[in-house]
Amino acid sequence: MDTFEYNPNPGRVVFGSGTLEKLPDEAARMNLSAPLVLATPRQLACTELVKGLLKGNVAGVFSEAAMHTPIHVTEKALDYAKANGADSIISIGGGSTIGLGKAISFRVGIPHICIPTTYAGSEMTPILGETIDGVKRTQSDPKILPSTVIYDVDLTMTLPSAMSATSGINAIAHAGQLSRRLPTPTVEALYAYNTNPIIDLMAVEGIRALASVLPQIVKDPSSRSARSLALYGAWLCGTCLGSVGMSIHHKLCHTLGGSFNLPHAETHTAVLPHAISYNATVVPTAMKKLAEALPESNGNAIHGLNVLLEKLQVKRDLKYYGLKEGDIDKAAEAVAGSSYWNPREIEKEAIRELIRRVWAGEPAK
Ligand code: NAD
Repeated sequence: MDTFEYNPNPGRVVFGSGTLEKLPDEAARMNLSAPLVLATPRQLACTELVKGLLKGNVAGVFSEAAMHTPIHVTEKALDYAKANGADSIISIGGGSTIGLGKAISFRVGIPHICIPTTYAGSEMTPILGETIDGVKRTQSDPKILPSTVIYDVDLTMTLPSAMSATSGINAIAHAGQLSRRLPTPTVEALYAYNTNPIIDLMAVEGIRALASVLPQIVKDPSSRSARSLALYGAWLCGTCLGSVGMSIHHKLCHTLGGSFNLPHAETHTAVLPHAISYNATVVPTAMKKLAEALPESNGNAIHGLNVLLEKLQVKRDLKYYGLKEGDIDKAAEAVAGSSYWNPREIEKEAIRELIRRVWAGEPAK
């Protein structure tokens, strides 16, 4: 077996159905007495559940979390947290709410309990992406990691089927990201130290779990067993993202999402097959593993992803979400202009063509 390094991220996970009930115990374990509860305006009802369970013992509720963690929202929430003497954060919601929770807890140095309600996986990563003047900046620090994560399948039952589909593909993108770091005859000498069989197991298992149940959730969003497996897959895939670096797929999505204000999970969904296809020729081992985890792939990961996206009936053209044809060059410039690890060299013309195909909604080849 190759030499590798494995750095598990610390953090406590409580998983199941009805697990929100365990929140008071979790807060008591951590000696929290005045948590600030975070949500988006749409999930205000969830904050009432939290307040009820904690018998009103909260510093307050801030329900203005927004996509891509805009810094002005964080500053407003920070002022509110300080004014109300918050000693901790409880974020209940998707990646937007969890991102705000991370931004506050990291700045102030207070503990953070996450209660995820989508499959985005942010709760498992030491990564914080924030938008400042329309540009998304990402930083990674172990202190960004939440202390405790409560996964309650019941809270995901209301996630609409279209969002379940794109959020699930967003999660697969995290694990697919890892798969592209697996050693290949081409990059093994340079990247072997990054490989890690434990995280690899999680990636394959996470992709397999999500890919097997997402079509079922789209057909029947009330299937608790399918939802449970999807949340389990999301946890594993989020762990993958939290344990390895990012490459072309996340760079594309951050640039498109942050600079052109495109929706996060939908952008990941449209970009993923193209990003994988861009790297495919230089990572044959990873492509084989990905194909094995995807049902109906016939041994071809891109085909498997195309079939999955077809079944999920998701939109695949970014022009639908507002990306302009004139933005293609700007996006290509930004993606090609910054430095980050990727198994294949970043070629500006090829990146431009990739973005054009995603803009037009042409399937990946
Ligand atoms: P989101 O958090 O923006 O949620 C989208 C909408 O769905 C919101 O209005 C939310 O309130 C609502 N919603 C969430 N769960 C629901 C449920 N169960 N039922 C009904 N409505 C529900 O979407 P997201 O895709 O989870 O998160 C996207 C954000 O997370 C982006 O800003 C992205 O950058 C960030 N993210 C960060 C990381 C990381 O590691 N730092 C990882 C993944 C995503």
